[in-house]
Amino acid sequence: MLYVSTRGGGGAVRSAEAIKTGIAPDGGLFVPDSPVRMEPGRMEAMRKMDYCGRAAEILSLYLTDFTAAEIGRCVREAYSPRAFNHPKIAPVRDLAEGVYVLELWHGPTSAFKDMALQAMPRFLPLAAAKTGEGAEIVILVATSGDTGKAALEGFRDVPGTRIMVFFPDRGVSEVQRLQMVTQEGSNVRVAAVRGNFDDAQGGVKAIFTDRNINRELEEKGFRFSSANSINWGRLAPQIVYYFSAYLDLLDKGVLAPGDPVNFVVPTGNFGNILAGYYAREAGLPVRRLICAANRNNVLTDFIRTGVYDRNRTFYRTLSPSMDILISSNLERLLYHLAGKDTAAVRAWMGDLQEKGRYDVGSGMLDRIRHLFWSDYAGDRETLDTIRVTFEKNGYLADTHTAVGINVYHKYRAQTGDPTRAVILSTASPYKFNGSVVRALLGDPAVAGRSEFELLEVLSRVSNTDIPRNLKDLDKKPVLHGLVVDREDMAAAVKDFLF
Ligand SMILES: *Cc1c(COP(=O)(O)O)cnc(C)c1O
Repeated sequence: MLYVSTRGGGGAVRSAEAIKTGIAPDGGLFVPDSPVRMEPGRMEAMRKMDYCGRAAEILSLYLTDFTAAEIGRCVREAYSPRAFNHPKIAPVRDLAEGVYVLELWHGPTSAFKDMALQAMPRFLPLAAAKTGEGAEIVILVATSGDTGKAALEGFRDVPGTRIMVFFPDRGVSEVQRLQMVTQEGSNVRVAAVRGNFDDAQGGVKAIFTDRNINRELEEKGFRFSSANSINWGRLAPQIVYYFSAYLDLLDKGVLAPGDPVNFVVPTGNFGNILAGYYAREAGLPVRRLICAANRNNVLTDFIRTGVYDRNRTFYRTLSPSMDILISSNLERLLYHLAGKDTAAVRAWMGDLQEKGRYDVGSGMLDRIRHLFWSDYAGDRETLDTIRVTFEKNGYLADTHTAVGINVYHKYRAQTGDPTRAVILSTASPYKFNGSVVRALLGDPAVAGRSEFELLEVLSRVSNTDIPRNLKDLDKKPVLHGLVVDREDMAAAVKDFLF
């Protein structure tokens, strides 16, 4: 299996090269150049396997330049009981008759990013070695909250790698800040940047493209890489849990082999739902992929009209991990649905760059709507859904998951489609405890309370346990007190490395 750029430039590369470089040299994204087919017999064999076994089977279809032993070792280290606090890793729970929730947040940071960021860091040094790269890999991350912590946990103590994370000193929650400044590990460094997310991200981009720093790094045996969600190494591990959920439903006897199912995905950058598309392409019987958006509903409009238009107001919502106006991974879907027409992809991405808008036309729109359906939920609807779901179904959802549940109800009401549905749950309710407590008990319950008091409140109301990684976070020692101005970020990186 080889990988090519969605924009048609450069040659085909092995998966190791795609993972090492992250983005294709022409600015496009790497995509598999040939179809993957999961044989029904193999599905049957996977039914009795644990999550690691299933992950190894599926990843071996895509990462064909890695040996079975390498893949097996990476997944066992990634999805270990040390990192995940549920034996099934990604358990499927009953929500209502024919409706299930796939929980993707039992990892070390209580959000779905762990599913990919526990695995990808273990593949990266192997990928570097396979491509003849001798340098130590240095990951730089600018984060608005969740990704930074998930990347720190993924890369901590991974041999051959170092990671430095910058977060805006104004702009992350208290839990998120403490998650990062208490980070353990021999190869990690965390710094607050005076400013907002754009300052932190601008600073990291400037370092990535600074010739002098790159030369200096090379001389000293280092090489920059990035862990962002367009890297194929982050996408591939996400295909696994679509299969795993289906296999669990077969095992429960809710589905018979070949029965169709719908997946509902709370979406931001289009990475999670795109993995569902790849699972379907590989033969998983998926009928519809339901794209659930929040008030930043650029994808809902796109899936309804074929026009992607980012020229709109950006809203801060209660589901912040979905507050995105440019869904980078959509480019991969366009490539596949356009029948590998790279000229068309280049034109659309050019329009997006220049005008902030592109129109894929009616033929593409038909193909998109055959597979996808989309709607969105506002903040009020999100809070109502959390409360009603808890009262009626006894299920406690975070704000992102609640967007998914709300949109699923809209889908059922509008289409009448009775196909069994799996709603992807992307964060623990404890991670967004303020909003969840507010939804259940009203505004007065959160007024004047710290995020840590609210963890306790939520635990009492719901009779569930606080995840071990969030509990006592305010009592852990602060290991990273560094605060820098944007101009001093490069010096901070050098100080960390040299
Ligand atoms: C990142 C994230 C999402 C969005 O996933 P995409 O792959 O960007 O579409 C949804 N919910 C949570 C909690 C997330 O962290």
